[in-house]
Amino acid sequence: MDTLAAPLTIAFDYTRSLGPVLGRFMAGLRERRVLGARTSDGRVHVPPLEYDPVTHEPVTDLVEVSPTGTVVSWTWNPRPVEGQPLDRPFGWALIRLDGADTPLLHAVDAEDLNTGMRVRIRWSAQRTGHIRDIACFEPGESDISEISEEFEPVEIMTTPIRLHYQHTTSAEEDRYLRALEQGRIIGQRCPACRKVYVPPRVCPADGVAPDEVVEVADRGMVTTFCVVNVPFAGQRLTPPYVVAQVLLDGADIPISHLILGVEAADVRMGMRVAAVWRDRSRWSTTPENIDHFEPTGEPDAPYESYGEHL
Ligand SMILES: [Zn+2]
Repeated sequence: MDTLAAPLTIAFDYTRSLGPVLGRFMAGLRERRVLGARTSDGRVHVPPLEYDPVTHEPVTDLVEVSPTGTVVSWTWNPRPVEGQPLDRPFGWALIRLDGADTPLLHAVDAEDLNTGMRVRIRWSAQRTGHIRDIACFEPGESDISEISEEFEPVEIMTTPIRLHYQHTTSAEEDRYLRALEQGRIIGQRCPACRKVYVPPRVCPADGVAPDEVVEVADRGMVTTFCVVNVPFAGQRLTPPYVVAQVLLDGADIPISHLILGVEAADVRMGMRVAAVWRDRSRWSTTPENIDHFEPTGEPDAPYESYGEHL
């Protein structure tokens, strides 16, 4: 039987607040200015450090350096991947900008890249106060040398994170997914502590692979849960909704799943729930066969029955 494999994508927009130092650095890039941080030993760091490595005090002294510098060291990237600065072969280089004491890592668009090469920033056509305002570096000198004005710091920077990869299953995962394709949920029992893990995995307490296959029910109880109130990119449900840890009958460790068919405010620990499977014609070797869980209406499970499984 062939091993299961499928392409998976993990994607999210990483949004961070920048603080006073990086906020001014990013705002400077928008104006085609590069700011470095001067620390107590007199050195100028680019990109700027937020804290002095010697005194550990917050850095407050930002100074402008040149958008031109010298390649200190480099390596060649013959096969760029999605999301990198250039879509053709280029060099990654450590570049010490004139006026700075520490080098900056960036891409250089030069086939004859070499140590000592003079390079300058190639600015993005549309600058927003983001690290990507520097498109890359290119050979040459820059002629910008005016004194910069004050500018408002950038407060928030969003960086899209995209990761595409091919996932190949382990033997345990393979067995778990093939059972799901038949509408069954299986776990495996640790030979040492006798606990049933769903999905099967190496027992984290004993460090041994489980052996005995155990079928568990497609119903169980909510142990803990959270109400999702925060919207995010790619969200398929409208908040508020509940994601819970569901301890299936026969299992010793809960799985994480959606609880629908009930007001978020009415979900509680110990609530009895059952899997709602999607239409059988769409079953395949995927956890998505179970669309969500819904309350069964049975009396709540007593705390003692799941307190050991939180
Ligand atoms: Zn164990």
